[in-house]
Amino acid sequence: MDLLDESIVPEHARDAKHEAREFAAEHIEPNAEAYYDSGEYPWEVLEAGMDAGLVAQDIDEEYGGRGFDLAEVLAIAEEFYRADAGIALTLQLASFGCEMVEQYGTDEQKEEYLRPIAENDQISGLAVSEPETGSDLAGMTTKAEAVDGGYELTGEKYWVGNAVEADWLTVYAKTGDGEDRYSNYTLFIVETDSDGYEAEHIPEKMGMRASKQGHIVFDDCFVPEENVVGSEGGGFYVLADFFNHGRVVVGGHGLGLAAAAIEEAEEFVHGRNAFGRTVNEFQAVQHTLSDMRIGFESARALNWRACEKVADSDDAGYWAALAKTKSTEVATDCAEKGMKLHGGRSILTDRRIARVYRDVRIPVIYEGANDIQRNLIYRQSR
Ligand SMILES: Cc1cc2nc3c(=O)[nH]c(=O)nc-3n(C[C@H](O)[C@H](O)[C@H](O)COP(=O)(O)OP(=O)(O)OC[C@H]3O[C@@H](n4cnc5c(N)ncnc54)[C@H](O)[C@@H]3O)c2cc1C
Repeated sequence: MDLLDESIVPEHARDAKHEAREFAAEHIEPNAEAYYDSGEYPWEVLEAGMDAGLVAQDIDEEYGGRGFDLAEVLAIAEEFYRADAGIALTLQLASFGCEMVEQYGTDEQKEEYLRPIAENDQISGLAVSEPETGSDLAGMTTKAEAVDGGYELTGEKYWVGNAVEADWLTVYAKTGDGEDRYSNYTLFIVETDSDGYEAEHIPEKMGMRASKQGHIVFDDCFVPEENVVGSEGGGFYVLADFFNHGRVVVGGHGLGLAAAAIEEAEEFVHGRNAFGRTVNEFQAVQHTLSDMRIGFESARALNWRACEKVADSDDAGYWAALAKTKSTEVATDCAEKGMKLHGGRSILTDRRIARVYRDVRIPVIYEGANDIQRNLIYRQSR
C-alpha cells in the first residue's frame, strides 16, 4: 500500500506530486547517503531540480514561476522528504522568503528579485532567528536605523538557511521601540554581497547535513528604502501570516519522514529472523507497525485538512499549528519505533532508519518550536 497515497491530495496537485516522486527516485534517494556523509551543499541535485521545474516554482507565472499553490508545495514536500530530508530542505529553501515579497512587495521588487529566483538564476533565504532569540518573534534585536535614502542594519542572525549561498534574503529587523512590541518590525530585501553583510556556516548538524544554515553579522549594512517589503512596522504580521503557509508544508516534512520510517521498518521486520520466524510474525511487532500507521494516517488527514483551511484563510493560524505539531511529532514517534524494530542495526550510521531518526529532530524545531505551536493552538481555540 502506497503510504503517500494520492487520493487525499487534491486533483490539481497530483501532477506536481507525480513529478516530485519521479524526481526524488532518480535524484534524491540515490544521493542521500553521499551528501549526508560529505555534508556538502547538494548543488548538483538542486540544479537537477531546477531543470525539472520543481525548485522555486511557487512563484507566480507572471514572474516566471509555475504558480504552485499550497497543496502542490505540500504534495512535493511529502515526496521529497520521504526520499531525504537534508536534500529536500535545500530544494525547498531555494525560494524561502519569496512568498512575502510576492504578496506584499512592489512591482519593481518582484521584477528585480522574484523573477531571477523563479527562473532559477538565483536563490533566496529568510533571516529571522538570532543567536539569543528564536521563538520570540517580537524580541529580535537586529536593528534597522533610518538613514538618508534607506536603512542601516546592525545585529546578528542565526540558523539562516542559505545565508552563505543565497543571492538575497528577506530580513526581519527592528525599526521601532513602541509599546506595542508587535509593531516594531519591518522586512527588508538584503543582497548578500552588500557591504556590512558577513555570513559563515554554523557548526555541523547531526541531521539534514545536506542543507546549510548560517550565522550572519550585519555591520552598518545599508539597505535602500525601496527594499522595504510592505510597510514599516508591519513585519511581524506579514511573517505570522507567512508562517501559517510554511507550517502546513513543514507538516509535510514530518509526513515524508514518517513514511520513510514506516517503509524502512516494515521492510526490515519482514526480512529479519528471530526464534525461527520472521520478526513481523510477533504480534507485538505487528502492533507497533499498526501504531505507526495510526499515527501517520491521523496526521496526514489533519495536515491535508489544514492545507485547505489555511489556503482559505479560515482560522489559518490554528490549523497550521495543529498540522505542524502533529505531523512532525508523528515523525519522531515513527522514527523511534522504527529504530526499535531494527534492533542493533538501527544504530549503524549508514542505515536509512538512522538518518531518518537524526532528521526528525529538526522539523519539530524550525518554523516555530512545537511548544510555541501549542501556545498558538490554545490561544486560537478560544
Ligand atoms: C535546521 C534548522 C533550520 C532553520 N532555518 C531557519 C531559517 O532559514 N531562518 C530562520 O530565521 N530561522 C531558522 N531556524 C531557526 C528556528 O526557527 C529556531 O531554532 C526556532 O524558532 C526555535 O528558536 P530557538 O532555537 O532560539 O529556541 P528558543 O527560543 O531558545 O527556545 C528553546 C526551547 O524553549 C522552549 N520555549 C521557548 N519559548 C517558549 C514559550 N513561550 N512557551 C513554551 N516553551 C517555550 C521550547 O521548548 C523551545 O524549543 C532554523 C532552525 C533549524 C534547526
